[in-house]
Order: sequence, then structure tokens, then C-alpha cells
Amino acid sequence: MEQLDEPGFREGVDLMFNRAVALMDLSPGLEEKIRVCNATYIVRFGVRLRGAIHTFTGYRSVHSEHMEPVKGGIRYAPEVDQDEVEALAALMTYKCALVETPFGGSKGGLCIDPRDWDEHELEAITRRFAYELAKRDLINPSQNVPAPDMGTSEREMAWIADQYARMNTTDINARACVTGKPLNSGGIAGRVEATGRGVQYALREFFRHPEDVAAAGLTGGLEGKRVIVQGLGNVGYHAAHFLQTEDGAKITAVIERDGAVVREEGLDVDRVREWIAKHGGVSGCPEGEHVADGRSVLEAECDILIPAALEGQINMGNAERIRAPLIIEAANGPVTYGADEILRKKGTVVIPDMYANAGGVTVSYFEWVKNLSHIRFGRMQRRQEEAQNRMLVTELERLSADQGLGWQLSPGFKEQFMRGADELELVRSGLDDTMRIAYQHMRAAWHGRDDVHDLRTAAFVVAIERVAASYRAKGL
Ligand code: NAD
Repeated sequence: MEQLDEPGFREGVDLMFNRAVALMDLSPGLEEKIRVCNATYIVRFGVRLRGAIHTFTGYRSVHSEHMEPVKGGIRYAPEVDQDEVEALAALMTYKCALVETPFGGSKGGLCIDPRDWDEHELEAITRRFAYELAKRDLINPSQNVPAPDMGTSEREMAWIADQYARMNTTDINARACVTGKPLNSGGIAGRVEATGRGVQYALREFFRHPEDVAAAGLTGGLEGKRVIVQGLGNVGYHAAHFLQTEDGAKITAVIERDGAVVREEGLDVDRVREWIAKHGGVSGCPEGEHVADGRSVLEAECDILIPAALEGQINMGNAERIRAPLIIEAANGPVTYGADEILRKKGTVVIPDMYANAGGVTVSYFEWVKNLSHIRFGRMQRRQEEAQNRMLVTELERLSADQGLGWQLSPGFKEQFMRGADELELVRSGLDDTMRIAYQHMRAAWHGRDDVHDLRTAAFVVAIERVAASYRAKGL
């Protein structure tokens, strides 16, 4: 991978922080308090597998405890290290502040390639890792609540929840110790796709503001826009699927570990996903043309580039050649600090990770609240809402009949109007609302201040101000 000498991930996040904080009026002491990562726990543990003891290294980093619990995913990847986990934990602090979820920032990681182990082995490893973290309150409903990230999914979250429950048999809130669980283990409808859904809602909100769309040199809405996605995992797939099936966007390329599959007229994302699931990559995928050097496709012409794999993908080595006028960071840290500077000079609009992928933590927040309240959203009010709506419709029909007006409700309206919202609809509504409001706060800083020239700096300014207010309220 072409990579020039540039700051690492954590350093890059700090530099972005510094760029924003320089525009703010915080005391140097408070600035430093917010910037630094409070603690990182490193654990090495052995698990007996395949007749031998294997030692694994895991991390849980807590960036800021201005609000508790702290929140952040657990990543399984061979490249996980302290620097990465601390960068991701810092981003979680700012992300939670930006979208107003009442959490501090945290992140975890395990140095492992999940593809090297079968399900049974992964369960043993995950349970042991969870045990190590839970016994130090680094998994705890009121202190530290993990979620899925790269390489983990609801399966791992269910194991973690169960491990915590076994260790805390009288904790009535045990299920709230982790989010992103399957529905049958205390999860919430809409969590699996939440981050991708959030990317879609973020883009929809962006395209509601013609001034912002023009800043990227684009016009119109999402319909027909050419989109390139890197990483067709949980986040990338759902974002691409929704944009294609609900907004009329064209997914012109999918970049994976083993190259890219390209089709100018638009790929069928679901079929590409099925191929990857069966064959482990895009090689040989008949849906489009295969490009062996996948990373070169990041530079292809398109309207929207969605990096949804891992950090550092757009760096000083390729930023100048990126042709997309709009980049939405579905992954965490896909654009390095150096690349960000180059892109800003070129006029590329970057919708920053801190905002773009906040859908996951937003719905995690809803799940945590659901677990603490021990009741499904909508269970109390749904039928009552339906009864009220039915009364209104019945009354309208009666009036129309009495007065001989012959009013006819349009087909389907009655059923749609009368239905009370179920959990999934409430989750989507809450997520949409969160993504819209957070964008509006960001753009108010972007357009409202002479010294803020991009959405990332705007996002940092909004988030840091909130974290600072929280520390000040505590008397720090
Ligand atoms: P995932 O493991 O489900 O998917 C990652 C995808 O990227 C996989 O398809 C993988 O094959 C692909 N990939 C890996 N290395 C690649 C490379 N070098 N080039 C191209 N493709 C590559 O992970 P995910 O949960 O979708 O997470 C992706 C990103 O989104 C991460 O940066 C993560 O931190 C971020 N994120 C995830 C969530 C969530 O809820 N899962 C929430 C917020 C942010």
C-alpha cells in the first residue's frame, strides 16, 4: 500500500482535535483533559484450542468518562494495537457528544483474524476475553458497554452478554452490559443495519441542503448518483443496499480485500454480497468487471465515495488522485489527517466519520435504554394509538355518510394511518431524527462561523464544546 510518512491514526485524530480546539476558547488544562485517553487496559490470555494453548492480546481503552457508561465497539482484526484502539475510543467520545447519546468514549480490540478460527473456537476466545474485561468492570451496564465493530457481530455480542450474566447472576440489568445483541437475547429491531441506515440518513440530510450539495459541485438529489463503496461488510453493505433500493443511487463499484468489482450501469449489491459470502471475496464475481488492484478504484470517477472498511485508506499517497467530490466516512478514520488537508484544498466535501457512522451508537443507545426499562419500545402505546386513529377514521366516514359527501379515503391510506408504530419504526424515526439534528448542528458551525471551513472541523467544534460543558458542570 502506498503510504507516505504521515501521522498515525491516533496522532491524526489528535491533530484534527487540535485544529478545531484552536478555534475555541478553552483553557489549556481543559483542552488537554479532553484530548488525552484516560486509560488503556491490555490483557494477554491463553485459551486451549486444537490441543495447545494459544495466547491472545486484547485491549479496552477508555477515552473520556465525562459521562458514564462509556461506549464503544469491540474489533477483531490482526492489526489491532493500542494506537488504533485509543484513536477509536477518542472518536467515540466526540461521536457520542455530537449525536447526543449520553455516553463517554471507549473502544476495544482483539488481535485476531476471525477467519482463522471456527465458531466454537471463537466462542471460547470471546468468552474468555469478556471474562477478563468484565472482572475489571470494563464490561458493565453502568460503566462500560461494548458493541460490534469490524470482525464482530451480534453473535459475539450474545456470547459477551451471556458471559457477563453468568458472572453477575443477580444483576437485573445484565442485558444492558453490551449492545448489538440478537433480538432474542435482548437486542433491538434495526440494530444490525443501524450504521448503514445512518449513512443513508446522513446522505439524505446532506442532499436536503442545496447549498451544501453545491459546495461539493453536485446538483439534485441521491437519485442516479454514482456511488463507490469500499468494504461490503455490515456497514458498507447496508448503506449500499438502502441507497440502491430506496434512493435510486447506482453502486458502480465495490472494493473488497481481493480487488474490486465494477459496473458503470450499477451493480446488484445483494448479488455481490451473496457472492462474497460464498466465495470469500469479489474475485470471479460475474456481476461486473474485476479489477485486481482494488485500491486504485478509490480513485475512479463517481459522485459519492463511501469508504466502509478500515482506517487510513485515503492518505497522502492517493488523496490528490481521488476524483469523488463527496466522501462519506462510513468507516472510522478512512481519511488520514494529511489526506484531509489535501482534500480540503481540492474542495472535496468530506462528511466525517464522527457523524457519518453514528447510527450504530445511536441505536445502541436505544437498545441500552430498552434493556434498562425491560420493555420493548411501542408495547404500551401501539394499540392505543391504533384505537385513536381508528376513531378518527370512523368519525370521518360517518360524517361523510351523514352529509352525503361521498368522501373516499385513498386506497391503503386507512390501514397505513391507523397502524400504531412498532419497535422498528420507532427506532428508524429516532435514528432519522438524530442524524438530521446532528447534521444541522454541524452545518450551523460550518456556515455560521468564518473560521470553520469544513464539516469535520465543525463536528469537532460542536462535540468538544459539549464535552467541555459537561466537564465544567462537574466543576473541572
Ligand atoms: P465488517 O467486518 O462487517 O466489514 C468490513 C468489510 O471490509 C469486510 O467486508 C471486509 O472484507 C472489508 N475489508 C477489510 N479490509 C479491507 C481492505 N483492505 N480493502 C477493502 N475491503 C476490506 O465491519 P463493519 O462493522 O462493517 O465496520 C466497518 C467500518 O465501520 C469500521 O471502520 C468500523 O469501525 C466502522 N463502524 C462500524 C460500526 C458497526 O456498527 N458495525 C459502527 C460504527 C463504525
